[in-house]
Amino acid sequence: MTLSIRNIIPILKAQFVGTNDIAIIDNVSIDSRSLQNSSSTLFFALVGPNNDGHHYVNQLIENGVSNFVVHYIPNNLKGKANFLVVENTMIALQNFATAYRSDFDFPIIGITGSNGKTIIKEWLNFLLSPDYNIIRSPKSYNSQVGVPLSVLGINEKHNLGIFEAGISTINEMDNLQKIINPTIGILSNIGSAHDEGFHDAGEKIKEKLKLFSNVEVLILNKNRTIEAFLNPKIKTFTWSSDDGKADVFVIAKESSDKTELKITFEKLCFKITIPFNDQASIENAIQCLMLMLYFKYDYEVIQTRMAQLYPVEMRLKVKNGNNNTTLIDDSYSSDFQPLKIALDFLESQKQYKKKTLILSDIFQSGLVIEELYSQVSHLIVSNKINRVIAIGETISGFKNKFPNCLAFPSTAKFIDEIEKISFENETILIKGARHFHFEEIVSLLEEKTHETVLEINLNAISHNLNFFKSKLNSATKLMVMVKAFGYGNGGFEVAKLLSHHKVDYLGVAFADEGISLKNAGIDLPIMVLNPESTSFGAIIQHNLEPEIYSIKGLNAFLKIAEQKKLKHFPIHIKLDTGMHRLGFEEENIDELIAKLKDNKTVQVKSVLSHLATSDDMKHIDFTLSQIKLFEKLSTKLMNELQINPIRHILNTSGISNFPQAQYDMVRLGIGLYGVSNDEDEQKLLENVGTLKSIISQIRTIETGESVGYGRRFLAEKQTKIATIPIGYADGISRHWGNGVGYVVIKNKKARIVGSVCMDMLMVDVSEIDCKEGNEVIIFGKSPTVGFMAKQLGTIPYEIMTSISQRVKRVFFRE
Ligand SMILES: *Cc1c(COP(=O)(O)O)cnc(C)c1O
Repeated sequence: MTLSIRNIIPILKAQFVGTNDIAIIDNVSIDSRSLQNSSSTLFFALVGPNNDGHHYVNQLIENGVSNFVVHYIPNNLKGKANFLVVENTMIALQNFATAYRSDFDFPIIGITGSNGKTIIKEWLNFLLSPDYNIIRSPKSYNSQVGVPLSVLGINEKHNLGIFEAGISTINEMDNLQKIINPTIGILSNIGSAHDEGFHDAGEKIKEKLKLFSNVEVLILNKNRTIEAFLNPKIKTFTWSSDDGKADVFVIAKESSDKTELKITFEKLCFKITIPFNDQASIENAIQCLMLMLYFKYDYEVIQTRMAQLYPVEMRLKVKNGNNNTTLIDDSYSSDFQPLKIALDFLESQKQYKKKTLILSDIFQSGLVIEELYSQVSHLIVSNKINRVIAIGETISGFKNKFPNCLAFPSTAKFIDEIEKISFENETILIKGARHFHFEEIVSLLEEKTHETVLEINLNAISHNLNFFKSKLNSATKLMVMVKAFGYGNGGFEVAKLLSHHKVDYLGVAFADEGISLKNAGIDLPIMVLNPESTSFGAIIQHNLEPEIYSIKGLNAFLKIAEQKKLKHFPIHIKLDTGMHRLGFEEENIDELIAKLKDNKTVQVKSVLSHLATSDDMKHIDFTLSQIKLFEKLSTKLMNELQINPIRHILNTSGISNFPQAQYDMVRLGIGLYGVSNDEDEQKLLENVGTLKSIISQIRTIETGESVGYGRRFLAEKQTKIATIPIGYADGISRHWGNGVGYVVIKNKKARIVGSVCMDMLMVDVSEIDCKEGNEVIIFGKSPTVGFMAKQLGTIPYEIMTSISQRVKRVFFRE
């Protein structure tokens, strides 16, 4: 894209306030944190429920960005950049994409439905790429913001587009239809996902079908319910496995690891084999087949290409590497758009300053290769990548364009040399096209541990954070509790994500938790809830902020702080209003005031208290009395000391149940990690952690035989038993054994038989078709931690924080 501001103004119907309307724009951004923002970026200041792009304009101008689409010009910035002032920046972004799209008239495939959109898109890209220069939505960029950004990636060399559209409620599809304006439609499987945004299934179907209002053909599974909503003027191309009236008739025959599809189309009858046997993959593959038939591909080509379909990995995974490295594993694709996203992700997740990029040849940019690799080089330089390892015949030729570049013609050649190259104290992004098999590189660089992992979904954390943010008044600050390794979900990684989201404070229990976060480069202010006096020196040295809860503690802290001649060092005063754990009581307040009066060594940054039963409305009177006492004591402190500290008392359930007591800040804990004790609220949160393992061994035992220590399980019939390498030393309670609890294998429950051992447990898999090496879910979406806690007579907090540190945490983002 190259457009001048002068040309963009009328498209956006913007009022221009600036000096240089001939400035040239070659990319669009909505993310103030991206290192890819430059003088030729047009920045759209979007306003969401949780964030406002206008707040970052000042910083962006300092970083060299000079063109902005805004709703208003932030303070004093007039004259410092070009501003295109519009009524609504999001609509402006969409209108811009719509106008941009209309300059191109090649075929564009639009995909919507409840399930399978991204997989169909990725597969079609694979199946059609030998013959087309394809532009497609990166990852699952299918929202009101993602779609315009995807469409703005089109360039002159593309000759086929594949975009997905996702909606969560009514009146969203019209926008997406205008922007994508697909010429060919594919309706993927309509399931129950996102039903809460719609009145009923009919409303949802009608809304989705709006994407196809202008297509020359719509591909879909023949289905009466859907047909009833279809505009009869739209030409359809349908398939079915039971309705002979469909245009294409498909019979699927599944075997252990593949499926044979028998296709009848017009006079033709032929077979293809796909390397999957699950229902979802079969349906998605048929949708792709339909498109190939519509494009009049020869059935032999269809056969060869479809036999090579592969599992689509949609996630960027963060893994621990050897020698203090972090790996970001994106070893399944290497196109230009996804590269940009991966580089932003690298910046947001980097644990070590030094950044290395391992990159394969790039395909399908639509550009001539010289132009492509100079753009890639530009991207790499602006993202401050310290070292590039280029793998592939083509990219090697452009070695001189990249910083500190080592080049290899193939993955095998690189692996031959890998021992000689040092990887330490750095963050490594591994990004390669599928056939480069970069997973082999990942497995060499990855830290080896056993098969049990706790997978942490970073998107879910962001979702939950935004959910709670949306309950706050706009001025309320947010502290997030990351004590006990972020409730077992990963201290640093969660903290890093939170600083990316610009929360105001982090809270930890002990000084050493805070120190390791600071050492890893987290620069948010951190409050230490329970600072021991022996750690005061370290707290000061690392700029942590102690919670002071007693006169004794205050004296001890003041003594050290005075020795160090500190001025206005931030401290937090904890009041006991009824929890009776830590804090100053009413009778200590006068002494506290006397101590702090005119003291210049410390500054009371905040005053806080903690609710004992904010989750239980049975005790509402008690909670209200706590809030009242907090009001009284904190007001007294403020008046007598003439200070204006941040006041805070609410934890997660307080945020939900006592919104009137937000004061200046709240302290979010368990909710961030996806757990609520309110059933309705629980439905709106996303699951964060999934504890997984594998089957080590399977055996069949006969009637009367026993399993495990103490022979606590006796088989009443022939029973198939699987052994899983996870036990109480990993944090699985022994009370979960002996038939109480279960694990999930292939979506089925497998009851735990016998006692949970230290490192293993055994389950009954008599009714499950499984083999050694299969995945086992201990908790996650189902069973949930909340369910387990209830069965075990404990609380989710205990289950989450009990998962031992020997269980490897793997972080991913969708
Ligand atoms: C742990 C903790 C929180 C967070 O509580 P949740 O119930 O997890 O939200 C808030 N404040 C204090 C003082 C805490 O110790």
